[in-house]
Amino acid sequence: MKAVLPSSLVDQFGRRVNYVRLSVTDRCDFRCVYCMAEDMEFVPKREVLSLEELYQVGRAFSELGVEKIRLTGGEPLVRNNVMSLVERLGTLPGLQQLALTTNGSQLQRLAPALKAAGVQRVNVSLDSLNPRKFRQLTRYGNLDQVIAGIDAAVEAGFAGVKLNAVVLKGRNEDEAVALVDFARQRGIDVAFIEEMPLGLIDDHDRALTLCTSEELRALIGSRYPLQAEGDPAGNGGPARYYRMPDSPTRVGFISPHSANFCHLCNRVRVTVEGRLLLCLGNEHSVDLRAILRAPDYHPEKLKWAIVEAMAIKPERHHFDNSQEPQILRFMNATGG
Ligand code: SAM
Ligand code: SF4
Repeated sequence: MKAVLPSSLVDQFGRRVNYVRLSVTDRCDFRCVYCMAEDMEFVPKREVLSLEELYQVGRAFSELGVEKIRLTGGEPLVRNNVMSLVERLGTLPGLQQLALTTNGSQLQRLAPALKAAGVQRVNVSLDSLNPRKFRQLTRYGNLDQVIAGIDAAVEAGFAGVKLNAVVLKGRNEDEAVALVDFARQRGIDVAFIEEMPLGLIDDHDRALTLCTSEELRALIGSRYPLQAEGDPAGNGGPARYYRMPDSPTRVGFISPHSANFCHLCNRVRVTVEGRLLLCLGNEHSVDLRAILRAPDYHPEKLKWAIVEAMAIKPERHHFDNSQEPQILRFMNATGG
């Protein structure tokens, strides 16, 4: 007989894991140049977790004390019937926050339903305000549609709407201030993300395009005075946030290269194939799908596998854009 399941997840370094990012699909209607190759092979459908399996995973985590679930992908809102999953996760009693990361293409249509289903926070990716450049960076994206989606999200009244921008040198770093202005006009936050070496992409050499948070902060700081918000421990994430004196908008910088917040890491990810990934920059993982699909599946078994996985969560990652990607997973399959 096994011991009683714990009510919270703690790893071997004493970090409490209270946040899980669930990748609900690896498919996407965009092909952003830093995220995907132009020609992508997606995971065969039978290997992707079903909506029921995703719910089982979400429930198991919430019963183990996880308070926040973020749905991501791929593009979560292009998964068939995804709203039925969102609605079920929205009713989990232990969950304090249900969040979503999206490219915004379907938001105009779905923002009110997402709000009604209990989603509190929405992150929308937006790398450029120039329609032609936006199309080049996303390969298929329509800027007007995404802006309409962002405005629909603001209108729907989520507790938080945030923009995420990946900045590539020579491509869109000249738009950083314009993106801050766009966020200020709507009173929402914006975070700038350093490109990470995930997956073999075919568009550019990441060693040449890395634009560090330091450079961006100087660029934006020359237009708006930025006041540091303090330790990122306070916001439970890897972003360092700054405030401007004349606006509620906060400007964040996510710097896997130039700053390392691994010691504060409170999160794990579940890939589309049901692999529980303990660190974005390492391959340590546990196959939850095998447990979900075993003939003797029981929710307790799933929970024990999650509890035991905490023992292999690595202490930190080592990203280096100057080398071939050490991690061959693409961001879309990982749940970025
Ligand atoms: N499709 C949704 C979206 O674009 O927001 C959700 C999934 S996407 C993989 C999540 C976030 O990861 C996006 O903000 C995207 O810009 C970011 N991302 C993708 N590839 C990345 C990379 N190689 N380095 C850093 N961020 C990346
Ligand atoms: Fe799709 Fe998001 Fe990746 Fe862009 S970043 S290709 S929108 S999954």
